[in-house]
Amino acid sequence: MIYTDAHCHIVAPAQDIAGRIYNSAWPDDWKYAVFVSDADDGVNFATIGIHPWHIARASAGFDSEMRDILSNHPNIMVGEIGLDKFHPDIDRQIEIFTTQLKIAAEFRRPVHLHCVGAWDKILHIFRVHAGAMPPAIVAHGFSGAPDLILQLAEKYNMYFSYSAPNNDNATTRIRQTPKNRILVESDAFDANPEVEILDSTIHAIAGLCGCDPDELSEQINDNFNGVLSYVRPIA
Ligand SMILES: [Zn+2]
Repeated sequence: MIYTDAHCHIVAPAQDIAGRIYNSAWPDDWKYAVFVSDADDGVNFATIGIHPWHIARASAGFDSEMRDILSNHPNIMVGEIGLDKFHPDIDRQIEIFTTQLKIAAEFRRPVHLHCVGAWDKILHIFRVHAGAMPPAIVAHGFSGAPDLILQLAEKYNMYFSYSAPNNDNATTRIRQTPKNRILVESDAFDANPEVEILDSTIHAIAGLCGCDPDELSEQINDNFNGVLSYVRPIA
């Protein structure tokens, strides 16, 4: 099996990985994103963004810095951005998220989304900006209501990225997600557990869906390429 990792925090050589998306969390990470973009190895892809846990690190000019990097690096995406109700200052989170969502739409880059307990607010923001949305969205570690999945997929070209499903809710979500929308992720900060996490996730999902793990893995890799088609697909 050859794996794709839709969401991680690793910049490393390939090792059984056909594609991975390194997610920035704050501006100090953006130099790694630029490094990945410049290396252009066809396996490692990267995002720039400010995670909702790290909004305090947003400088006054963070948006123009993002625009500069995106205009010089056509294969960099936007992430990890979003809202998290368990972290402080939701109003400032909304402000920073909305700014970054608009930048992603302006540069036609996929968004890598972190949303915990704030789908009502995210949906409101999406509705307000429905006329100018990014071309695709990856909902990382999707934990929203299962009955949102189909409309999010259709309206916002959303993909749903999962890691080892471990409760009834996760099972329901996975069963409700169309096969052509499923991604898997390690969310790893270290290369060691990456392949094991991806492998066990694919086998768990295949078990839940009653499908063949190898076929599922190929579908997941196609889906991964669907996201990357807006920047550059893997070989
Ligand atoms: Zn992450």
